[in-house]
Order: sequence, then C-alpha cells, then structure tokens
Amino acid sequence: MKNVKCCKCVKCDKEYEACANITTCECGGILDVIYDYDYIKTIFNKEVLKNREDQTMWRYRELLPIEADTIPKGLRVGNSPIYKTDKIAKMLNIKELYIKDDGINPTSSLKDRASAMAVTKAIEAGYDTIACSSTGNAASSLAGNAAAAGLKTYIFVPSRAPKGKVAQLLMFGSNLTSVLGSYEETFDLSKKAIEKYGWYNRNAAINPYLSEGKKTVALEICEQLQFEAPDFVCVSVGDGCTIAGVYKGFYDMYNVGLIEKIPRLISVQAEGCCPINTAVLSNKDWTPQEENTYADSIAVGVPRNADKAIKAIKDSNGIAVNVTDDEIRSAQRFLAKECGVFGEPAGVTATAGLIKLCNKNAIPHDATVVSIVTGNGLKDIESAIENCNEPVRCKNSLPEFEAAMKEHNIIVK
Ligand SMILES: *Cc1c(COP(=O)(O)O)cnc(C)c1O
Ligand SMILES: [Zn+2]
Repeated sequence: MKNVKCCKCVKCDKEYEACANITTCECGGILDVIYDYDYIKTIFNKEVLKNREDQTMWRYRELLPIEADTIPKGLRVGNSPIYKTDKIAKMLNIKELYIKDDGINPTSSLKDRASAMAVTKAIEAGYDTIACSSTGNAASSLAGNAAAAGLKTYIFVPSRAPKGKVAQLLMFGSNLTSVLGSYEETFDLSKKAIEKYGWYNRNAAINPYLSEGKKTVALEICEQLQFEAPDFVCVSVGDGCTIAGVYKGFYDMYNVGLIEKIPRLISVQAEGCCPINTAVLSNKDWTPQEENTYADSIAVGVPRNADKAIKAIKDSNGIAVNVTDDEIRSAQRFLAKECGVFGEPAGVTATAGLIKLCNKNAIPHDATVVSIVTGNGLKDIESAIENCNEPVRCKNSLPEFEAAMKEHNIIVK
C-alpha cells in the first residue's frame, strides 16, 4: 500500500507494518493507520473524484488502507443521502442542518462501512472465515457483507439484541451465538474463540481498519457539501469507533487540502451508559459503566475505542453531551415526523443531543450542523411501536371510521 506508511499505537507511538491481519500493539494500545498525504495528493483531488464512476465507499480508495489492485467484493455500501432540513434548522434556531441518513446502507446501518472493509481485508489476508462480537449492527452487517463476498462467519451477540438484527443474522446464515450476558461478556467470549480458532477478527478496536471504513461517512459529507466543512457534526457514541472514524475522515480531507477546517464533533451518549463522555467531561481516564439504556447499539459499558474517541473529541474542540432515554424516544419521533427519516434509538441519539444543546443555546445560531443517523428504525420495531400511539382501529365502514377518528381527536377534512 503506497498510500499507507504504517500502523501506529495511539498509546506508545510504536509503529508496525500495515499488514492485513494486524491487531493491537504489544503494549495493549490500539493502532491508527498513518497515511502518506504527500503521496496521496499526487493521485487524489477533486477532479479525480468528479470523474470517478464508483458510487460506493470505495470511490475514496486513495484514502483507504487497501492494496492498489484489490477489487472489493460484496454489497453496495455508502453514498447515503444527506438531507438539508430548513424546517428543523429553523425550529432549533441554527443556520443550516443536514441529516445524513446512513440507515439506508445494505444492512441498514453505518456498520456496513466497517464490515465491507473487514471483509476486504480478510480476503486480502487469505482468510475464509471472519468473526466478531457486537451489540447487533456490526454483527448483522458483517453477516450480510460476508455472505455477499462468500466468507463464513462466527458471530456473538448479547441475548438482549433486538429481533430485527437477529433475523438478519439468521437469514444471512452466520454461525450465531446469543450470549447470556452483557456486551462485555459477549466480547470476551468472542475474543477467546477467535484466539482459539484463528478466524479473521472484525472486532472494533482490535482491528484498526474498521474506523478507516467508517470514516468514509465523513469523506462523503465533505463531497456532498461541496468541500465546505460544516461547523459541527453530531455522532452517537458507544464503543467509540464511529466517532474516531468520523474525525479521521475529516482529518484526511484536511490533510490532502480538500477542506479548510475540521468540524467540531458533538459526542452524544445515553445517560445510562456514557463512559466516554464522562471521561471527556471530567478530564479523567475512562472507567467501565453499566449498560443501562434502551439504545442498545450504544450500550457499551467497556468501550474498546475509548482512546481514539476521546482524542477525536478533544482534538476537534468537540462537545460531549448525554441524553436520557426519553430524549432519545422524543428525537426518534421528531426526526421521523419532521423529515421522514426513521432511525433506531441509537441511530437518533446524535440528533437528541443536538436538540438538547440547541435548547440550551449551546450552539451558535450561525452554525452549519450535520447530524448522522447511524441505523434504521426497522431494526427494532418493538421499541418503535412502544414509542408511538396506537393506530385507530375500525371495520370497513365510513361512519365507524369517522366515529373512531373523532374519538381520537383527529379532524378529518
Ligand atoms: C455501533 C453504532 C453506533 C456507535 O458506534 P460506536 O463505534 O460503537 O461508537 C451508533 N449507532 C448505531 C446505530 C450503531 O449501530
Ligand atoms: Zn503501544
């Protein structure tokens, strides 16, 4: 890989050759992929992008850690829509708001960006089996992307994983284990099994290439906004791999000279599980917390990417904000009703944080903000239905319909 210099430990700065199956540093620290921006500038610019036919995440391949001759196999990941919503911007009293809907990816979450990368690296390294533990989305996306590329999967999810995600896993034919325990215990079992059987490891943080896949969401945002970086980008945070990736994407774009500033990141966690934000707000090291939120995808009490995430928030002069489950529920209905984007609970947590900050006047009124919706609402229909009013019920009779409407105080005209 001519564009990649090495993988470097975020704790002790030790450098490693960027081989396809590299994991963590010998000191236990996680690795970051270091690029040769001087070289990349000679092969990558706005003109190259403009003439590129590939509409998937691989259109940014000069900024991605894959071999020059690799042809990624699998699903069509990336190129998710970004919606400008003047109505919500006005309600929140900010200049511009964009909703980046990553729930439209093939398995309906942003995790597809990381899974497509993991599958590509596993094939580069000659593996035929790939494994991970996950709160649900990384698992279902790995299962789908691996099925498309012809790899076998072993997957571990906590037994609390919502049915929609389990349905995906079963359909994609993964060897699925539902672990009777927390996410932390799920991770631990996957680690032991991966060590024993030698499968390719798609666990976030252990595998430094995952946040490189996830960063393509930020690369797309730059291109979709004509290389005018927004002032703020809101991200739901669990393990921390996503927000680290978002930072990395903007950092890359800045370093190849395509944007003039790196946006300030808004890190949003659930009050019931917020180890990363607690560390940022208290300026201390992170410590484990319980996993007490219904936003299951971000209920990560022991985040494995905390170091990268905390650095991303601080380096971007970011903001950390926690929201309650009720604020998440309310944001879920709000986003669906006001702009037609139906996110899962963790998917709308970023927007819940933005609403909270705007209500506290903590965001300048001339700000341009992007809020990323990280997962689709159909992943967890049980919690979505609980979050809404019952439908009006009636038989095939117009008078009965009108009576029912009246009973629900709905004016029909
Ligand atoms: C995984 C996930 C996140 C958070 O990403 P992390 O890398 O765990 O911080 C947010 N939203 C959804 C829907 C997710 O699946
Ligand atoms: Zn190290």
